[in-house]
Amino acid sequence: MEFTKNNSLDICCIKLKINISIFLCFLLVKLLEVKKIRARACIKCREYVKIQPDDPENQELIKSFEGNHKRHTLITLDIDEVKDQYKEVM
Ligand SMILES: [Zn+2]
Repeated sequence: MEFTKNNSLDICCIKLKINISIFLCFLLVKLLEVKKIRARACIKCREYVKIQPDDPENQELIKSFEGNHKRHTLITLDIDEVKDQYKEVM
């Protein structure tokens, strides 16, 4: 009897762990979506800079990038869309 009781408790524990794992995976995916990096890109020069809102140095980089490409067409988009076709400016 003791064994059966423990066993069902174990199964309950496993189920709970699986549920928690699924929940954590879901949370991670959501976090990654939110953290998706955006880029500021110049269509004419085919160059881009990453946008990192928390990084003050990056703000300066974006400012100078926008200055350098003042008369060009600048767009903001996901980094996935530019990284193969555009060159990154550091
Ligand atoms: Zn340009």
